[in-house]
Amino acid sequence: MFLRFIEHTRCPRSLIERHGQYPEAGRDRTLTSRGLAAEDEPGRPFPAAQASVIGQQPGFIHDFIRGETNGSLPSGLDEAIDTLRFEKYIDNAIQNNSYNGAKSTARKVYYLLRPLFPVAFRKHLQRIALKGWDERTFPAWPVDFSAEDIFENAFRCLLQGLNLPEIPFIWYWPEGYSACCVMTHDVETKAGRDFCGTMMKMETQYGVMSSFELVPEQRYEVPTELIEQIREGGCEVCIHGLNHDGKLFSSQAVFFERAKKINEYAQKWGAIGFRSPVLYRNLNWLHALKVSYDMSVPNVGHLDPQPGGCCTVMPYFIGRILELPLTTVQDYPLYHILKQRSLDLWKEQTEKILGRHGLLSFIIHPDYTTARWSKQLYELLLVYLAGMRVDRGLWIALPHEVNEWWRHRQDLELVNDDGGWRIRGPEAWRARVAYASLENGEITYRIEAAKPPVSGLSPCDICP
Ligand SMILES: [Zn+2]
Repeated sequence: MFLRFIEHTRCPRSLIERHGQYPEAGRDRTLTSRGLAAEDEPGRPFPAAQASVIGQQPGFIHDFIRGETNGSLPSGLDEAIDTLRFEKYIDNAIQNNSYNGAKSTARKVYYLLRPLFPVAFRKHLQRIALKGWDERTFPAWPVDFSAEDIFENAFRCLLQGLNLPEIPFIWYWPEGYSACCVMTHDVETKAGRDFCGTMMKMETQYGVMSSFELVPEQRYEVPTELIEQIREGGCEVCIHGLNHDGKLFSSQAVFFERAKKINEYAQKWGAIGFRSPVLYRNLNWLHALKVSYDMSVPNVGHLDPQPGGCCTVMPYFIGRILELPLTTVQDYPLYHILKQRSLDLWKEQTEKILGRHGLLSFIIHPDYTTARWSKQLYELLLVYLAGMRVDRGLWIALPHEVNEWWRHRQDLELVNDDGGWRIRGPEAWRARVAYASLENGEITYRIEAAKPPVSGLSPCDICP
């Protein structure tokens, strides 16, 4: 009932118990410290009556965010969060249609003929396919914060219900960083592959490290030297599907067969992260991948061929795999669907996500950065992000570092120690105690300064 909130905020269970609404014993067993247990699979269909067509916020989600609670915790919070994170709000018929029905046939034909179409015609077809996207009100464009809104409302209920001035929890990012940013590059073609070195050189100037998602088969050769070069440059290698032919999720049999090969390449490359080509996904099948984290779920997918979106800007677990959602518009739709050659939309999304202390994640394709104007634009983005690191406490990290941190944080515990709150567990020194309070009806956060280690030793005690 309230487990997603505890898992997300690491708020002490004792407070929820005091509130008197801690979930009944038994339900607890279906959740692990990593979120969903196997039997609680993410794709469990949501009751049809509550499913929604894409483009409208389901009524019960709206009630969670805006509903009057009078200090009592809304029941069904876990279900509401899962509905968003696992995109269960999309009507099953629509979801299935996108894989198996008429749309899928059209997609197969498109992929078959794609090499024959001139680029301009391809862009034209893509614009037709996405027609009407800007009329959808849900998930909200350009960033949807429905999950964050639900968690904030839960904080509000706890504050009112317990009549406390503040609720302690474990801050979302290490060392008190305000928000987090990951820069990622899906490498689509040989031209993109050959531009990876230039991307890395540009990024080094601004102290930005990134991940490169490589396609193991058919698209281009992946020499061992390239993987070494990326690692030596302080960057990271991830797996970008198997051959990028658009059919990875065409059936369960195809996916499971290909997953075996993907796992072999991941092991060979030492890669622990995955991004699905074109962000096609079926979260029910993801467990077949032997990776630690995934980056295939958009926050709002209006400009992607597969509709939906997880409506959160925070990492979350899909079984044992950590999802790092894509929270900003990709370069391709920005340049070719929205026809913008400026940072405006990225800046707008950044401001919104920083305002919610979330994860800012980018996909910039090396393939589309070779032109002079797009290279300049990318450089401006790097300048902007480096500025945000200094001015706004943005943690620019590699995806594997975020994955590692989030897993550590999941194992940390907030304990009451002589009337104060302390954090106990692995790498607790990196974590900060935070407090949520109400100010003029709005939830605000305060992060406590770092405390000395629990052992009480100061550096002078350790020095010889
Ligand atoms: Zn791709």
